[in-house]
Amino acid sequence: MSTQKEPPEQATDEDESPIATARRQLERAAEHLDLSEGMLEQLRHPSKTVEVSVPIHRTDGSVEVFNGYRVQHFEVRGPYKGGMRYHPSVSAEECTALAMLMTWKCAVMDLPFGGAKGGIVVDPSTLDAQETEQLTRRFAEELREVVGPTKDIPAPDMGTDEQTVAWFMDAYSMQEGETVPGIVTGKPTAVGGTHGREEAPGRSVAIVAREALDYYDGSVEGATVAVQGFGAVGANAARLLDSWGASVVAVSDVDGGIYDESGLDIESISADGDEHGQLGAVDAPRQLSNAELLELDVDVLIPAAVGNVLTEENAADVQASIIVEGANGPTTTAADTVFEERNIPVIPDILANAGGVTVSYFEWLQHINRRSWSREEVNDELEAEMLDAWEALQAEVENRDVTWRTAAYIVALSRIGDAMNARGLWP
Ligand code: NAD
Repeated sequence: MSTQKEPPEQATDEDESPIATARRQLERAAEHLDLSEGMLEQLRHPSKTVEVSVPIHRTDGSVEVFNGYRVQHFEVRGPYKGGMRYHPSVSAEECTALAMLMTWKCAVMDLPFGGAKGGIVVDPSTLDAQETEQLTRRFAEELREVVGPTKDIPAPDMGTDEQTVAWFMDAYSMQEGETVPGIVTGKPTAVGGTHGREEAPGRSVAIVAREALDYYDGSVEGATVAVQGFGAVGANAARLLDSWGASVVAVSDVDGGIYDESGLDIESISADGDEHGQLGAVDAPRQLSNAELLELDVDVLIPAAVGNVLTEENAADVQASIIVEGANGPTTTAADTVFEERNIPVIPDILANAGGVTVSYFEWLQHINRRSWSREEVNDELEAEMLDAWEALQAEVENRDVTWRTAAYIVALSRIGDAMNARGLWP
């Protein structure tokens, strides 16, 4: 398999926090484009940061107040779109970084949205269902002025799920005096959710892995694949690649992984989540650690668990021919530099797992049109959108001799720059 050579850049920043990464990637792409300093300065900052207090009655009768945020980054291409997470680490800074990433992700996919992110500083495992519902309904009310189906459309994220956004939608709708399904995406299908949303990020990872194999003179048929993280993203990517003839030789969850050099029986392994830690019970020739999985000699490595797992420490030992990022931010900047030097293409998260936001966009369209799409329609449209985005990146990789990550940011930033130029700056 031949991979493309280009001169490596030095890793200049050890700060791997989401905000540092988001800003660094903006600056890096800007070097290739003719954007004014004024335009860049606008993109470095969110348009709006909303901080709210969310009080609830705890089940024991006490009142507790939680901090909530919604950060809206840049809406030049359309309404804001992004998840809401319930996690102790939620902060204005984290939401800003993740909102910026959503702006780039939507622009890479050419979706008419700008990026947003929000959430509540809470460990959701400390709340019962009634408390979570109260928290969500009050959060929806506190944000009512800044969200809306043509303003800002939240979706589930870490610590939230389809039930959370269903409550959010119900609370918003009650105050509006009408049912407004378009206020959120990722809803249950009973209230306007779309088919195919859950599998979508894994499906886009699989599509991109297949295209990358094809581009580098390989084929998905018979390609060996290792997947770190057998959850929503990793399991769906593994199953699809398996169904296309790839040999998934290793998968893992938080407790470790399993390996079979002749290919695992992927269909028989249930995804992580409901039955945590069940991979250890699967009958496979070899158990291996997550660290070992990342260093397997495979055609495609898919880190689909958590961020910052491919680092300066292990990048030199990675033997995969291609890396496809299923998780958000699995590769540190220093590791990226090593992969560049070693000629290992890294297909970035903002393309690879963008199936999630793309199918959220389809859900939003279904609300506008008042017509639901079949699963087949969703999957066909996702395939078409992924191929368009892949081709846009491929053109930049070939014309500018840059990495796939830089190409993705160039595509995103040039689309945002064109929109800024067309609209101008008001007043
Ligand atoms: P998930 O919770 O369904 O699955 C995560 C998997 O990773 C599980 O198998 C878990 O056991 C494993 N894991 C957790 N911590 C680990 C660790 N330290 N080392 C190894 N394995 C570990 O989560 P998901 O929805 O599949 O998300 C995975 C990644 O993809 C995250 O980075 C998420 O932000 C990103 N992502 C998810 C979506 C989505 O819609 N689900 C969309 C885009 C990006």
